[in-house]
Amino acid sequence: MRALAKLERNPGLTLVERPVPEPGPGEILVRVEAASICGTDLHIWRWDAWAQGRIRPPLVLGHEFSGVVEAVGPGVKRPKVGDRVSLESHVVCHACPACRVGHYHVCLNTEILGVDRDGGFAEYVVVPAENAWVHPEGFPFEVAAILEPFGNAVHTVYAGSGVSGKSVLITGAGPIGLMAAMVARASGAGPILVSDPNPYRLGFARPYADRLVNPLEEDLLEVVRRVTGSGVEVLLEFSGNEAAIHQGLRALIPGGEARVLGIPSDPIRFDLAGELVMRGITAYGIAGRRLWQTWMQGTALVYSGRVDLTPLITHRLPLSRYQEAFTLLEKGQGVKIILDPKA
Ligand code: NAD
Ligand code: ZN
Ligand code: ZN
Repeated sequence: MRALAKLERNPGLTLVERPVPEPGPGEILVRVEAASICGTDLHIWRWDAWAQGRIRPPLVLGHEFSGVVEAVGPGVKRPKVGDRVSLESHVVCHACPACRVGHYHVCLNTEILGVDRDGGFAEYVVVPAENAWVHPEGFPFEVAAILEPFGNAVHTVYAGSGVSGKSVLITGAGPIGLMAAMVARASGAGPILVSDPNPYRLGFARPYADRLVNPLEEDLLEVVRRVTGSGVEVLLEFSGNEAAIHQGLRALIPGGEARVLGIPSDPIRFDLAGELVMRGITAYGIAGRRLWQTWMQGTALVYSGRVDLTPLITHRLPLSRYQEAFTLLEKGQGVKIILDPKA
């Protein structure tokens, strides 16, 4: 089979031929129909400091994908051969203190598909059966492939007190921030403000936002105060950008909630007393997706048609043209790019 792998501790990736893997006990073999590229894949491609510390080549990349169950290993009752599935990318241990109290999304021994073990940028991949989310017959593979990052957005929007009837600022209109704008709109938030310095990406938020802000052209805090009167009740942070995080915290009304999914590339400094403590802000760190509540919530939104993710799929390319796909994303000229591993 064809697979896209990191073979050496250097920048770049290689298309390789590999034997089709066999599912062991508790595992399934998935025939991958669609895969999509995440920012994490760009880090591994570039071989930056994070990738050098985390990735152990050889490794097949890909943690956002969907497909059909081709075979099941011993003991697997569900899913069944022929089922259409998305995959939760976190393989959890069920034994650590976090798992034991049901916080699987912060399992101490998490292994991520395509990061710590072979992933879905391949024609076939073996995964634990419990990581499969089975879709109704005919559910589109492209949408199924991007439910993993969609779950990040759903988890962030629905954390804490949710967003219904609340004013919301979304910092960062990358794929996950845009998905969060869709969920916030579908969940009755308002007004919704979205900020991003990239006008191409910001434009995708237009149908879901009351106000778009380019922080390079306008003062974000001033716009927030003008639109809301005082400040927003909820900050949803998806940029990982230090300036955006400070501005976002200051845009909150006292007593507001900050939910942070974005990951800064370096540790950042902030004024704990002035930005958080004395303003009574509640801060949530959001990791991954809650298993399986987030998948229930996310698929309810998508199956019901309340959220349509297809406008975010900007490109479709064969896996063999991965260089082009990674370059487009690196330049911020795409949102979700779907790769077809069969081509
Ligand atoms: P992305 O890098 O594609 O998007 C980030 C966006 O932030 C970009 O569009 C960029 O232009 C924008 N941005 C940069 N500076 C900004 C500023 N000052 N104000 C507003 N926007 C600004 O990332 P993504 O794939 O959408 O993911 C969002 C973030 O979440 C990333 O930081 C990613 O590393 C992180 N992430 C976290 C988890 C988790 O489990 N916590 C999971 C996936 C991704
Ligand atoms: Zn990802
Ligand atoms: Zn665990």
